[in-house]
Amino acid sequence: MCWIFAYNWNKNSIPFLVEGLTNLEYRGYDSAGVFWITWDWKVFLEKAVWKVSNLAGKVELNNEKDDNYKSGIAHTRWATHWGVTEENTHPHYSNNERFFVVHNWIIENYASLKDDLIKKWYKFYSETDTEIVAKLIEDEFEKDLITTISKITKKLVGAYALAIINKENPDSLIWTKFWSPMILWIWEDSCFLSSDINALSQYCFEFFTLEDDEIVVVNNWKHKIFNFGKEVDRKAEEMTQEFATATKWEFETFTEKEINEAPDVLLNSLKWRINFEEKTITSETLKELNELDIERIEIIASGSSYFAGVTSSYWFKELSWMPCEVRISSEFLYDTFIPNSKTLYIFISQSWETADVRESVKIVKEKGWMTFGIVNVVGSTVAKMCDFWLYTHSWVEVGVASTKNIIWQLWVLLLMALNFWTKRNLQIKEVRKIIVEIEDLSKLMQAQLNDINHIKKIAKKYSQYKNFFFLWRNLLYWTAEESALKLKELTYLHAECYSTWELKHWPLALVWPDFPCVAINLKWVMETKTASNIKEVRARNTTVLGIITEGMNNSELYDEVIEVPETSHILVPFTPLIPMWLLSVEIAKILWKDIDKPQNLAKSVTVE
Ligand code: GLU
Repeated sequence: MCWIFAYNWNKNSIPFLVEGLTNLEYRGYDSAGVFWITWDWKVFLEKAVWKVSNLAGKVELNNEKDDNYKSGIAHTRWATHWGVTEENTHPHYSNNERFFVVHNWIIENYASLKDDLIKKWYKFYSETDTEIVAKLIEDEFEKDLITTISKITKKLVGAYALAIINKENPDSLIWTKFWSPMILWIWEDSCFLSSDINALSQYCFEFFTLEDDEIVVVNNWKHKIFNFGKEVDRKAEEMTQEFATATKWEFETFTEKEINEAPDVLLNSLKWRINFEEKTITSETLKELNELDIERIEIIASGSSYFAGVTSSYWFKELSWMPCEVRISSEFLYDTFIPNSKTLYIFISQSWETADVRESVKIVKEKGWMTFGIVNVVGSTVAKMCDFWLYTHSWVEVGVASTKNIIWQLWVLLLMALNFWTKRNLQIKEVRKIIVEIEDLSKLMQAQLNDINHIKKIAKKYSQYKNFFFLWRNLLYWTAEESALKLKELTYLHAECYSTWELKHWPLALVWPDFPCVAINLKWVMETKTASNIKEVRARNTTVLGIITEGMNNSELYDEVIEVPETSHILVPFTPLIPMWLLSVEIAKILWKDIDKPQNLAKSVTVE
């Protein structure tokens, strides 16, 4: 989603800043803008809707620009308050054109603040909530910006990261935040501020994370952090390798690269938690969990992570004998919360800041119950808030549609279920068997990636249809939902999921030759019953693509098949994922869709 980048540097920073914006394009946004200033008060403001390349083009063509801008703020906007227009694009400025502001997230009480400012004759040129911040600063400013910022943030309700330049002090910039992430980077004689940890990971090795309500002042490349007026001495954190992999290598898109990374990263993420030689779970965090009195699990997540939670609920029930409920985070927030001291609340967030997940953690924490976070980003807000957490170690994921990341979420959840299983102390042999299978599965997934020509052939035929049913039974529910979700997200075609038994209750009414079914029918998951249901569909002349286990003897039921390797019942949800994702990518290519950045979507959903 939205992104802020600001710098104070002893060099001409135009190329650097535009490159920074381009690096962060994957977050999803719909307009971009910059404000730069030289030490001798020459300013430059440029905005463009849609791609950062539009902005870069405008900057390039602008002959007025200087090559000496040493302070700057930049923003990619994901519109929350009205349309995608140049007027609404950040940076925004005060009436006297002295204060320039970029902002992430939302000011909830902006309408009443705006009314008050209009009564004082302030003029507004945009429809955004952000513009009121620039006007408020002008209204409250007396002698210095720090005092003014502390004063105005008391009036703001909502969540925000704000970067501000006062034109009268071109060698400084100021930043504050509430609930929205913010990172300060130091590199040679320069200071950068970014709302995304990935922005500068190739260049900077030291960074500081900032707490809510803190104010950072950067002046002539030196920074100071203030917490309620008092300067604080913050220790720098070190950049770890896992952020530094945001390149496409030989792939056409990040999404394809990330699908291809899945098998390797799988072993990488598990080696921290499993001793493959001894076939035991080694994670200290999981061992700690086994000391606690946990009888129930509640999982709170959204999007693909929600579906990962649903699959794990089968594991928690089947392996750990624990009741497990899975909740969509945005609904959890407004539902009646019935706390239970023997429940472990698990929060899953593929990004580091999903707003509704973060708010849900807050609700559970306030009541003092046990919270467990599964996140990909080290140091993320969600992780920091939880009592326990495990990182998925799946490295940067740039494609907006999550792929490898959710496979790791599943692994972590499976490990948790296996861990609770060992606590029952009954099934050590079976746990070992599954650990061996996990190691093998990484090789099997690698082989699936080589089947791309077959997938391309199938994509050619199925790209002609507009509607799809994805059919499933039992613990293939999530796999089907996730496969349909990817198809919708990447191709904008319509897809729905049904249990094959549910078909006769009503979905069969829609089935006809131009409405194909993708039937996931795997060994160990009620395959005979599913096959009879597929016959009912075939009897209505529908095209059926079968996702079946290798060697299953029923390929005559389908028009085409994609075979997946055989695994035990517990691991079946994994095997269709790679071919299903590749199929969506190939269909999206045929339909000329932007695979890494699907329309209207963003990588990290930072607003509720
Ligand atoms: N609420 C602001 C707007 O609509 C900021 C959105 C964002 O975070 O990009 O302009």
